[in-house]
Amino acid sequence: MHRTLRALLAAAIVMATFFPTDDAAQKKDRFYFERLGYAHWQVPTHRKVVALTFDDGPDPTYTPQVLQLLAENHDQATFFLIGRKVSEHPDIVRQTEFLGNELGNHTFSHRHLAHMNTSELAGELDQTQNAILQATGQKCKYFRPPRGYYDEPSVLTAHDRGYPVIMWSWDEDSRDWQAPGVHNIVNNVLKHVHPGDIILMHDGTGNSKQTIAALRKILPDLHKRGYQSVTISDLLRSAERIEAESK
Ligand SMILES: [Zn+2]
Repeated sequence: MHRTLRALLAAAIVMATFFPTDDAAQKKDRFYFERLGYAHWQVPTHRKVVALTFDDGPDPTYTPQVLQLLAENHDQATFFLIGRKVSEHPDIVRQTEFLGNELGNHTFSHRHLAHMNTSELAGELDQTQNAILQATGQKCKYFRPPRGYYDEPSVLTAHDRGYPVIMWSWDEDSRDWQAPGVHNIVNNVLKHVHPGDIILMHDGTGNSKQTIAALRKILPDLHKRGYQSVTISDLLRSAERIEAESK
């Protein structure tokens, strides 16, 4: 009897060690924040839609070229803007929005979030929102952290200010900021494309020549495959439709 009790106790200790309670086991990772709806990496949808996203603009050289290519192909995208640059080029921001694209918040200074506390982040989000509001008369809805860095305090700070965090599909990083060659950028985007993908590109890194050349191939090729690029809001709406259909 004594031995049985001791064996039970040992088993309980093993269980507690390897199978901790829900709270302790809850890793605050991608899936945790996705379940809460606080962040999105990609969106479940049946429709052949993707969301091209462009970071680090507005840029007076490259953003107008991206806008023209999108318009020629009847596509839309989301631009995650650096607040400081919005103040410098409000006309480009207005044009971006006027053409049916969506604007997003990418902080004011583009500093790494690991070097900011939550009140600094909140301040940068507000400053950028104000710059966008001044340029367009509209508020933006989404936040993308510089370099895609996130942790619990930053996701919660964004959430408190009303922003879902928008990341990108794990296999849809164009790596265009490294200028790896047009062919590689095209390949990085098209090779694994599937419905609901969020695709990461850049129009404001200072040299986005390869991005522009790649986009000339990517947009028609997406259409050949039956895809269209839409805004983040449209992409999320197509996911809501799936949920509604399955109820
Ligand atoms: Zn960035």
